[in-house]
Amino acid sequence: MKFQAIKGVRDILPPESELWNRVEQAAREVFATYGYGEIRLPIFEPTELFARSVGLDTDIVSKEMYSFEDRSFLAREEIRDFASFAEFVAGAERAFKAGEIPQTSNNASALGEMVRYRDELAKEFRGADPTKGGKDLGDFTNQLVRPYKLLGPVFALQMGPSLSLRPEATASVVRAYIEYGMHTRPGNVKLYYIGPMFRRERPQKGRYRQFYQIGAELLGPSDHAALDAEVIEMLLAFFSRVNLTSAKLYINSIGDKNCRPAYVERLRAELQRVREKLGADSQRRIETNPLRVLDSKLPEEQPIIDKLPHIADCLCDSCREHYEELKRQLALRKIEYQENWRLVRGLDYYMRTTFEITAPGLGSQNAVCGGGRYDGLVELLGGPAATKGIGFAIGTDRLMLSLQEAGAAAKCALDVYIAWMGVQAYPAAVALARKLREHNFSVELPPQEMKFGKSLSLADRLGARFAVIVGEDELAARQFTVKRLADGDQRRLPESDLLEYLTSSRTA
Ligand code: AMP
Repeated sequence: MKFQAIKGVRDILPPESELWNRVEQAAREVFATYGYGEIRLPIFEPTELFARSVGLDTDIVSKEMYSFEDRSFLAREEIRDFASFAEFVAGAERAFKAGEIPQTSNNASALGEMVRYRDELAKEFRGADPTKGGKDLGDFTNQLVRPYKLLGPVFALQMGPSLSLRPEATASVVRAYIEYGMHTRPGNVKLYYIGPMFRRERPQKGRYRQFYQIGAELLGPSDHAALDAEVIEMLLAFFSRVNLTSAKLYINSIGDKNCRPAYVERLRAELQRVREKLGADSQRRIETNPLRVLDSKLPEEQPIIDKLPHIADCLCDSCREHYEELKRQLALRKIEYQENWRLVRGLDYYMRTTFEITAPGLGSQNAVCGGGRYDGLVELLGGPAATKGIGFAIGTDRLMLSLQEAGAAAKCALDVYIAWMGVQAYPAAVALARKLREHNFSVELPPQEMKFGKSLSLADRLGARFAVIVGEDELAARQFTVKRLADGDQRRLPESDLLEYLTSSRTA
């Protein structure tokens, strides 16, 4: 049997991973200069957290989450006969009382039914003993469970809370913000995260089922547009640090709970009138989430969408003023942007500012970053109503693709290959390897003696920058021969000079 990574997930191997590390390091450095600290979040959370924040009608929650029942200890599969059924029911009753399985009304009624069946069965078969000619209770499932329709309640019992692999991290950040009472901290709470997210999407270039995000969130009492602009500035500073050129910034405002509902209704009414011309997805979204129709990429829907009302014309005074201030703040920072009225973002929690950044070389999946303001989210998840929030998530996979497309390559990881010859040379080679590693050089030391030519050819193929030769002559002279593999330059140096030579070549 041959194992392979499952569809839509991939391994990131060296040397590519070196490039990933460099990019993530750049994020850490740039974000730190804006006062952000790292938050390390769990990979899974209660399904409900995402359902509530991201929204039930979004693709992410309705069809893309990896969810599972986190069952504690009861194994339905072990129900074979009456005794094990009775044991299962007793265990479930106890676990329900202790809160180890969810204390929901569904579970209460499933449990009630099971208890009734158990008691009925116990009465019917009381004293039954096959050895004394009584009824055989062995083949319980066939003889008893089916006729008594027991499997229903057994399987209806939810054995544990529903958990999901995180499809995004803003919900988790907000959950942690509330859980740890971070609103009592002075000033704004500024957090960034780096890690994998999971969505069951159709895999293609730039779209994976396990993908990576670098994201940041700013939570606090103020919703001043200067904060939105500064978040965007930080993002662009990071892109510039990693040399992502020709990134394009798009912005929009999608209003708030005062003005958006009226716009959504207007949109819905307009969409109803052109319903027949729309595809199945958009037709469905007229009811569930009309804003999402604006996200459609279907060519035949574009002329229709172009004629739909723009939200900019429906913003209330305070949202319009916020949006104008955002544009002033961006101009003040000399940040170029393009307005895109169709930029609504697929998640429910956004309000007012939304933004997206696209990068070249990615084909249709060209969004490397999405973000926006989510002032109501903290309250929605049970936190203090006064807390506002804004943040973004960068798709690291896509960022890497774009950087690689533009020629970014991982740096050669191997500094020195030690070619040693003769058993007497080995201890000196081991000592030298340790010394060089202490000085932060990456060193390859072959475990066995090799012929000189073979050794140097391997050094070459490994991409080493230098080969250090340790042979009898070198031992006798208490020196090392060092060969720069790029141009064959060769010199003989005592250890202290060798270190100096290698160090200066590193900075050169
Ligand atoms: P979202 O959380 O949907 O706003 O996505 C933020 C960013 O994450 C997007 O702009 C993409 O760059 C990236 N992203 C989202 N979904 C995927 C995916 N399935 N595969 C790779 N990157 C993704």
